[in-house]
Amino acid sequence: MRKHEVNYPTHDLELAAVVHALKIWRHYLLGNVCNIFTDHKSLKYIFTQPELNMRQRRWLELIKDYNLNVQYHPRKANVVADALSRKSHCLNVQPLIEDGFDLMHPAVLHSIQISCSLESKIIEGQKTDKGIFHIKEKIKQKPSQHFKVDEQGVLWFDDRLVVPKDRELRNKLMDEAHLSKLSIHTGSSKMYQELRPRYWWTKMKKEVTAYVARCDTCCRVKAIHMKPASLLQPLSIPSWKWDDISMDFISGLPTTQKGHDSIWVIVDRLTKTAHFLPVKTTYRPPQYAQKYIAEIMRLYGIPKTIVSDRGPQFMAHF
Ligand SMILES: [Zn+2]
Repeated sequence: MRKHEVNYPTHDLELAAVVHALKIWRHYLLGNVCNIFTDHKSLKYIFTQPELNMRQRRWLELIKDYNLNVQYHPRKANVVADALSRKSHCLNVQPLIEDGFDLMHPAVLHSIQISCSLESKIIEGQKTDKGIFHIKEKIKQKPSQHFKVDEQGVLWFDDRLVVPKDRELRNKLMDEAHLSKLSIHTGSSKMYQELRPRYWWTKMKKEVTAYVARCDTCCRVKAIHMKPASLLQPLSIPSWKWDDISMDFISGLPTTQKGHDSIWVIVDRLTKTAHFLPVKTTYRPPQYAQKYIAEIMRLYGIPKTIVSDRGPQFMAHF
């Protein structure tokens, strides 16, 4: 059934079914006399009704081409159609119907477990959720601007269904929005926009974002939004030892007795001679400079260039 068809009155729905059948089996029915059995009495009189709405008139236009014979068939006598009409609500019926539905009594169908849609699962889940119980208690005492409980006892946040704190249920909801055949791995913000009008839970946006971040497929195909790196700029080849040096830090080490917790590595770029100086992460640039003068400059003089990943503020002190 299409969305707008939900709003049709019952007799129009019955007629819509007939029209649908006529369209589908047009090639069999045109030019032949066909009998239509319906459990809806008023359909029998549709051709003699004086006043018709636009929709009915349009359909009658179509029906006119066929040679129809509408007959009323009371509900009780129409076991087969009754079984078939229940199919849409109850997916489990399928194998039974194939097994021979003519043996089946409608009563059998009622006892078959009806597979719930997600929405009814949410409503079911609301009944046992502590948080929702808490909200309901609160609004009993003081009416809330957003939360409302309807006649069926279902909690709503504005017109959004409140989803209980059930990991499996929420994941299923997000799966549907993210992985179903109709949605091709939507991004987190778009997915949130889709879920937002219908559902509500606390930290919903955050959870949707986290969900998308966890999606394996999304991670693999994600485009990298980074400027491509420019060409490498190789350093010039040094010509004299200790003219060009590079330095780096090894940090995050356990503290020594003297309170040092990182190693300052100074390497001559030509000879690859390295000096390892114990330092503290709390050192300020002047202290590094002092240390440098005492340990390195004492031996090798002033360098011409220094390569480091530290900021210019640090280098300025040399
Ligand atoms: Zn994905």
